[in-house]
Amino acid sequence: MDNAYVSNLLEKYKKYGNPGMATVMQLMGAVVEKYTEGAIMTDSNGKQYIDFLSGHGAYSLGYRHPKVIAAVTQQLYSIPMSSSKSMLNETVVKLLEKLAHISPGKLTNSFLCNSGTEAVEGALKLARIYTGRKKIVSTINGFHGKTFGALAASGKRAYKKPFKPMIRGFWHVPYDNIEAMDKTVDEFTAAVIIEPIQGEGGVIVPPDGYLKAIREICDKNDALLIMDEVQTGLGRTGYMFGCNHEMITPDIMCMAKALGGGVMPIGAFIATPEVFQPFAENPTLHSSTFGGNPLACAAACAAIDVIIEEKLALKAKTKGEALLGCLKLLQAEFPQILTDVRGRGLLIGLEFANEGIAGNIILELENQGFLALYMLNNPKVIRIEPPLIIEYPHIKSLLGALYDAVKNSEEFLDN
Ligand code: PLP
Repeated sequence: MDNAYVSNLLEKYKKYGNPGMATVMQLMGAVVEKYTEGAIMTDSNGKQYIDFLSGHGAYSLGYRHPKVIAAVTQQLYSIPMSSSKSMLNETVVKLLEKLAHISPGKLTNSFLCNSGTEAVEGALKLARIYTGRKKIVSTINGFHGKTFGALAASGKRAYKKPFKPMIRGFWHVPYDNIEAMDKTVDEFTAAVIIEPIQGEGGVIVPPDGYLKAIREICDKNDALLIMDEVQTGLGRTGYMFGCNHEMITPDIMCMAKALGGGVMPIGAFIATPEVFQPFAENPTLHSSTFGGNPLACAAACAAIDVIIEEKLALKAKTKGEALLGCLKLLQAEFPQILTDVRGRGLLIGLEFANEGIAGNIILELENQGFLALYMLNNPKVIRIEPPLIIEYPHIKSLLGALYDAVKNSEEFLDN
């Protein structure tokens, strides 16, 4: 593809889209994506990239999984969008039933929306109306989305400060600190919202027992536990949901990203029938025009089937363990550059000595034909978050490229 084609697209994006983002795209080499299949993205020059980013966890099934494409195509030619929420739709009901089957404990009643942040908004509203309380406790560096409620719950000041005042009633405690949580959750607390592993915070994996302790603190205070599984859910960490690792059941659970099978955007929150009751009593209290549209529901039904049939959670566990083991060896060889390696399943974080090194590694990997990116709330950490269908040869080639990139990063070390 000639350079004029690329610079024309970039100029138009700069003029009609976000000029700041256009600069970032330019720094990343002004790549034009053209075709995706499985774990591979091909650009306009025919260069192939192995995806170790998965759209921040959305492409767990890889790109254009044939079963998801077939389900969406079939739905497209019958009823892609429904006009009235007061009529039954078989695909929607199918999805609701599947969500209840795969979710832990007595979580049975879902509300369908279009994204992760919307799932969090709905969960927070439900917690407030169910308990009649206002206080929400979340964690420093947690990430729950960028709409106002989810932003208030998130724990990164830089994303919130320009938009103050935030919604009131949100408290933040350090992640992985049971004592701080215990001191903060009280009889005024509607809910604790927490990720089973902090994703954007830098892949912070809490020690075993942490989630159980949070569950107990909530129970002691009659507060609800909202588990944000938007990134960790649907097989990513080696379990269907991240909270399955400690076998705890939240009162409300949020999901999105991988739920759309990499083909459609969709989100959901699911609650116990008791907690869901206020929305059952008045179903118009919380609604969405496009939430639960049949096209997205068809994608989600197929995605859940594929995750189960292809044992993607188990694949994430075994491949994740193998990859983590190799990355730890790399860390042992270059401890000053690569300061930590951590994760569960195929949600892995590489922490570098500084942001400059992380940035350089991302660029070097891209040059070598790999997609990777830093974590939103912690730019020293690069995510290794491939589709769960990733193959061992892909992993092997990433490890080779990563070795070279880390070795070549010494010049970026602070003196
Ligand atoms: N919650 C968590 C844990 C996330 O990781 C994200 C996105 O990365 C969100 C919520 C927001 O999801 P979305 O970008 O679909 O709004």
